Amino acid sequence: MKEVRLMNGVVMPAIGFGVYQIPKEDTKRCVLDALEVGYRSIDTAAAYFNEREVGEAIRESGLPRESVFVTTKLWVQDYEYDDALRAVEKSLSELGLDTVDLVLLHKPYGNYYAAWRALERFYKEGRIRAIGVTSFSDERLQDLFLHNEEVKPAVNQIETHPFRQQQKSNEFLKAEGIVHETWSPFAEGQKGIFTNPVLVRIAQAHGKSVAAVILRWLNQRGVVVIPKSVRRERMAENLNILDYTLSPEEMGAIATLNEEKSPIYDENDLATVRGIGLHKIHD
Ligand code: NAP
Repeated sequence: MKEVRLMNGVVMPAIGFGVYQIPKEDTKRCVLDALEVGYRSIDTAAAYFNEREVGEAIRESGLPRESVFVTTKLWVQDYEYDDALRAVEKSLSELGLDTVDLVLLHKPYGNYYAAWRALERFYKEGRIRAIGVTSFSDERLQDLFLHNEEVKPAVNQIETHPFRQQQKSNEFLKAEGIVHETWSPFAEGQKGIFTNPVLVRIAQAHGKSVAAVILRWLNQRGVVVIPKSVRRERMAENLNILDYTLSPEEMGAIATLNEEKSPIYDENDLATVRGIGLHKIHD
């Protein structure tokens, strides 16, 4: 799967480049490297504080604007309607773009109904080509689109990797025509993912890296991936995953690694939800 077609017909690359936790001063260089290596989709967010550098890299690359798919995200602090309008304008201005390809509600907290209506307005004006959400549980997502009949979310970006496979959500999203995109495909490197014996065995059988096996497994499940790396050789390794296929046995072996629990954060922990929900990214 090289690309996916969103429910409104917009085409999105199936492999993109994520810039979370890339320091502001390194972002331009990393995005330029990623574009040179061949990525045509970049995932940023207002809360990553590097939208400006992403925009600069795209312009400096000399690539036609329409050949690069740009995603950004609206933070919870800006979910009231007027705040959301202002915050999206700010993201567009930071990116230096007239239109952005995809804007996601970053977390399922606060007044996300008002925020959604603000995204719908930009969408109808043609300034955002597609709108979606991230980290929404199936229940919250269904509730959101049942009560907002105008524009249905086109994407849900959720933590998905071998230790948290999200099969139930994958089926729900497919049934609803919503694209399943993953964040942290390598579980941020936690739980020894790169030396996991099952993944190492499969990687050796194909002469590939564990990272390439994880991304191919996600790709074969129809999941859009946005791995992050600050190293050019890894960027290339993470992009070049479509030249081989994992067998049903190999897909089955990876399925056994599932614990369906996040090694990154517990979204049912009240202190965590409070901390994220009240996190401020500006005055
Ligand atoms: P990730 O992609 O799961 O893992 C990144 C880690 O893996 C980094 O330590 C990186 O190190 C390492 N790595 C990358 N490629 C590798 C390779 N080929 N071999 C070995 N190690 C490799 O983590 P992530 O950045 O959290 O997630 C990816 C993207 O998802 C983010 O950048 C962001 O765009 C998005 N995201 C969204 C949310 C959300 O709330 N929606 C949350 C988290 C992330 P080096 O950089 O040193 O190579």
